[in-house]
Amino acid sequence: MEGSRACPSGSFKPSQGDQPCLPCPINSRTTSDGATSCVCRGGYYRTDTDPFQMPCTTIPSAPQRVISTVNETSLMLEWASPRETGGREDVVYNIICKSCGAGRGGCTRCGDNVQFLPRQLGLAEPRVYISELLAHTQYTFEIQAVNGVSDQSPHSPHFSPVNITTNQAVPSAVSIMHQVSRTVDSITLSWSQPDQPNGVILDYELQHYEKDQTDYNSSTVRSLTNTAVVRGLRPGAIYVFQVRARTVAGFGRYSGKMYFQTMTEEEYKTSLQEKLPLIIGSSAAGFVFLIAIIVIIIVCNRRRGFERADSEYTDKLQHYTSGHMTPGMKIYIDPFTYEDPNEAVREFAKEIDISCVKIEQVIGAGEFGEVCSGNLKLPGKREMFVAIKTLKSGYTDKQRRDFLSEASIMGQFDHPNIIRLEGVVTKSSPVMIVTEFMENGSLDSFLRQNDGQFTVIQLVGMLRGIAAGMKYLSDMNYVHRDLAARNILVNSNLVCKVSDFGLSRFLEDDTSDPTYTSALGGKIPIRWTAPEAIQYRKFTSASDVWSYGIVMWEVMSYGERPYWDMTNQDVINAIEQDYRLPPPMDCPSALHQLMLDCWQKDRNNRPKFSQIVNNLDKMIRNPNSLKTTTPLSSGIHLPLLDRSVPDFSSFSSVDEWLDAIKMGQYKESFACGDLSSFDAVSEMTMDDILRIGVTLAGHQKKILNSVQMMRAQRNQIQSVEV
Ligand code: AMP
Repeated sequence: MEGSRACPSGSFKPSQGDQPCLPCPINSRTTSDGATSCVCRGGYYRTDTDPFQMPCTTIPSAPQRVISTVNETSLMLEWASPRETGGREDVVYNIICKSCGAGRGGCTRCGDNVQFLPRQLGLAEPRVYISELLAHTQYTFEIQAVNGVSDQSPHSPHFSPVNITTNQAVPSAVSIMHQVSRTVDSITLSWSQPDQPNGVILDYELQHYEKDQTDYNSSTVRSLTNTAVVRGLRPGAIYVFQVRARTVAGFGRYSGKMYFQTMTEEEYKTSLQEKLPLIIGSSAAGFVFLIAIIVIIIVCNRRRGFERADSEYTDKLQHYTSGHMTPGMKIYIDPFTYEDPNEAVREFAKEIDISCVKIEQVIGAGEFGEVCSGNLKLPGKREMFVAIKTLKSGYTDKQRRDFLSEASIMGQFDHPNIIRLEGVVTKSSPVMIVTEFMENGSLDSFLRQNDGQFTVIQLVGMLRGIAAGMKYLSDMNYVHRDLAARNILVNSNLVCKVSDFGLSRFLEDDTSDPTYTSALGGKIPIRWTAPEAIQYRKFTSASDVWSYGIVMWEVMSYGERPYWDMTNQDVINAIEQDYRLPPPMDCPSALHQLMLDCWQKDRNNRPKFSQIVNNLDKMIRNPNSLKTTTPLSSGIHLPLLDRSVPDFSSFSSVDEWLDAIKMGQYKESFACGDLSSFDAVSEMTMDDILRIGVTLAGHQKKILNSVQMMRAQRNQIQSVEV
């Protein structure tokens, strides 16, 4: 009987009986006649529940077109189904998570804390949300496609890898802390900024406890800057200190423990005795000079009919007579008060042996010679990248003194926002000043090169650093007198540091540089200088605050020249008539208000640097306060000085308009994109901007804002015409 005959090769019959033989399904075969099932070919499988009539199936190919969207420390992954499902409909996905340490040691499986939504394994839908990742870490995610037969295959499932790096991170640990000063019951400490701040540092927490106790008994002090005075300590006791930084991402790790001791009563008494002569007269000449000034002031004050002598030294004088008597206070000493300024260099700057310095290349021109980059390798220390200022040959004695005075000044400062002096080379030729290297060079050119490329918070972070440096200088009673974006340097972490402590340009009378205008007794950078300093050389921390306001304006306008092409005399007249610079484009109103505060005519009404730092900190902590900008289309009559808002009707072509908004590089893109008339441009949207290939966010914003402004101006004109 046909039904009971054994099935020939290539066919099978699942059970005994009369049914016909069935051909082996796809991807299966028989090994002998009379098969009751067909076996799968190599690489094909059947699950326990697959009917024998069903073709054998295989594992799926890898998922396709993975899209990853990182948001701080979480991530969305989406993908398309595999091209080959292996002949099955039960494809699901597994996610393998590997974290890869910064280039070293390869990748390891992620810890259990990483969260997957809806789950990590057996995802039916082609997407997953992953959170709780470590900040600033590289991860590789493998998206595996698996189906019902994957676990029968000796091969691993096919997958698509995707590499991502997470963003937010808490700051790294502070590495160096040192004692600025101490008294019997207090210690003033300062510390370096963490190597990786990973954001804007909001504040520091300093923890301390007495050495013989445990950290259960510790107290903490909060500080917005990287220095703090810890009070209420016991005389002669040793304390353990640890500090940690905080950003929006949270607290970083505590620094290592550092030990500092308060003064004993005996030390305090001897220090006072030792300090007095040093403080009052670094040199007899300086002392006599001060006495003379005191006499002049007393005489002037007595003679009421005369105007008050507003000497540049009065503020300093108050400090010498009162401030200086406070033990533990650090005050700047003018190297020119030394009878022999070389003495000041020896006191404040470390002599470096020339064999430790390796010059690499010239990076700029200083006042006295070339500025180079190079390496410094001091015995027992790690090699570091440095900037080297050289004194060109053929110098006079005076030039050498003036050149080195910068080192004597810089060497007295120790603050993360002040250029750090490594030392000087004076025992060989050429004479050099060696300082920390700032990868991004001077702030003004750095901003111009990166026009529109920073967030407001990044700009405010830079401004905060500059203000913190200036606060430190004004606390030390040092008046900079030449604060401008060109005198601020930027490192690779976007940290700004105040530089240029050379005094020579104020001492010499040379009119070759248009930035400075010669005035009686020295040169003055008019655009950056407070009116009282221009008029009667009243240079104080309050006049530095004025200059700081101009720096704020330079920063927010990405290196625009203050007062544009106005002449120095026009600037002086405009300021006298109470005109002030308008807000730069996109500048938050709160920041422009702070600028206007810095430009108060009466210097007593200007904020102090400490208030500026606090103000900026508040803005950083509450970024919503930076959302308001002066409305572009408010219809208010534009202030006389307002050149940041070009009047489009003064342009005869779109090209001219692009030049005026400093976007001239897109002329061709506009022309090719059918945007060569004002009608077309004023109707532009973000889609058009993308269409013509403007990819930089800062430029997109600038063009969009200028278009909005153009539209507003056109509307105004039309409503007037109607
Ligand atoms: P200066 O004489 O200080 O104005 O220096 C001249 C130029 O050299 C500056 O505008 C900078 O571009 C560059 N420069 C000076 N000091 C440094 C530094 N520490 N790191 C990097 N560049 C520097």
